[in-house]
Amino acid sequence: MTEKELIQKCESGEIGFVRLQITDINGMLKNVEVPARMLPTILEKGAMFDGSSIDGFVRIEESDMYLRPDLSTFAFLPWDNCQGKTIRLICDVYKPDGTPFEGDPRYVLKRVIQRAKSMGFETYAGPEPEFFIVKRDHDRGKPIGAFLDTGSYFDLLPVDGGEEVRKQIVLSLQEMGFEVEAAHHEVAPSQHEIDFRYTDILKTADNIQTFKWVVKTIAIADGFHATFMPKPFSGVNGSGMHIHMSLFSDGNNAFYDSSKDHGLSQTALSFVGGIISHAKEITAVTNPTINSYKRLTPGYEAPVNISWALGNRSAMIRIPSTRGEGTRLEFRSPDPTCNPYLALALTLAAGLDGVEKRIDPPNPVDENIFKMKGSRRKELMIENLPGTLINALEFTRNSEFVKSTLGDHIFNTFVRSKEGEWSEFCASVTDWEISKYLELY
Ligand code: GLN
Ligand code: MG
Ligand code: MG
Ligand code: MG
Repeated sequence: MTEKELIQKCESGEIGFVRLQITDINGMLKNVEVPARMLPTILEKGAMFDGSSIDGFVRIEESDMYLRPDLSTFAFLPWDNCQGKTIRLICDVYKPDGTPFEGDPRYVLKRVIQRAKSMGFETYAGPEPEFFIVKRDHDRGKPIGAFLDTGSYFDLLPVDGGEEVRKQIVLSLQEMGFEVEAAHHEVAPSQHEIDFRYTDILKTADNIQTFKWVVKTIAIADGFHATFMPKPFSGVNGSGMHIHMSLFSDGNNAFYDSSKDHGLSQTALSFVGGIISHAKEITAVTNPTINSYKRLTPGYEAPVNISWALGNRSAMIRIPSTRGEGTRLEFRSPDPTCNPYLALALTLAAGLDGVEKRIDPPNPVDENIFKMKGSRRKELMIENLPGTLINALEFTRNSEFVKSTLGDHIFNTFVRSKEGEWSEFCASVTDWEISKYLELY
């Protein structure tokens, strides 16, 4: 969509409203609606907003910020068609002096993409977001924490209670330009997954934000609630968001080398080595909630150890069997509560660091790590991922790598905000404690 075409559509009345969107540090999508007639001015000057009202952005003394729409993110909203259609545009955030705002997560990712480019690489990524669909209590306007169905992997109606909603979600995503590749019931009751085609990494981060918004919007319209909370129910799988990533150089997949073992290039191995060497430091960002660590426990198809493997799904990084153009890694620890701009930025930066320093990965692990004895893990030198948010934050707080990748502003705000979340959690009495101790002691 060119600027001219867009303005024409606004003037002709085809577009009635524009939703300008950004993402805050915690990964929350934010938006402001403007009538279409405002768009020409906004395209020229940016849309001013109060940055101090967005979590982690700026202090009140320096609050004027500007949104500049990225026209390549143009999309109609399938569910919102009254009085001229509504479109959305994802924006970059600028300061009054016209320079990019260092607290904008999208800018962090753009900087790392630039670094990849300067090393000769184009980066592609694709996610596998999982989520639960539950019922809503309409009187209270709240989701109900109980299973909606008894379905499992690839099930159909009647045990798949979310089949109809899932179909509506897929249709809306397609209307917004997503290339949906697969949608299915996941392993846990009421759990689902929808996969869409990989693309360049910035677009994928934008897509993840749009995806979560569409899933939630359609679920609510159908009377349900969709949650990306990583582990809403104990005893069953949680929801992850595996990230597939590959580098291309001169139009060729830089992870593929037919002359090497397993068809994997030195670049692929070093990239894996980089992620492994920075895994502990980046976990607080890829798994940013207290609840994220309830998912990273043994036996639920989510990784607990820092490892890589070829086929083995108990490892943190897996290399799917496709070779040639489709050669990629699958990073399995991230969950859908992460801020996709920051999580993808750190994953890519960690991989590039590995490539730059030629970091060798440890040997791949092809045994089921969940069933492995501690002594065997020690022998193979397999370390654990951080087990709690505060444990992960300790690694992040001391990481020069994370600090320089995120920039001081986001780094400090993120660490402070997550430390606050941890303190809040420590001071609250959970249902588990009541059921365990109230009667016993
Ligand atoms: N739900 C699992 C996770 O938490 C993944 C299961 C799967 O996709 N096979 O990562
Ligand atoms: Mg999948
Ligand atoms: Mg899955
Ligand atoms: Mg997967």
